[in-house]
Amino acid sequence: MTTPPTSGPALTCPRCRATGIQTLANSPVQGVWTVYGCKTCFYTWRSTEPAENTDPEKYPRHSG
Ligand SMILES: [Zn+2]
Repeated sequence: MTTPPTSGPALTCPRCRATGIQTLANSPVQGVWTVYGCKTCFYTWRSTEPAENTDPEKYPRHSG
């Protein structure tokens, strides 16, 4: 069980690495999860998703 940090780090879009990230929704119980949305490519993800979906360093590339 990991607890998300209370002080939000600088969020970066895992897909396009833009930093214009907005919070779209929060869990009914505060701090359980947060839905983020990228204003650049409209990718959305939940804070509880695996790193492949939330971390730019681990997001699968589809280059080529
Ligand atoms: Zn994006």
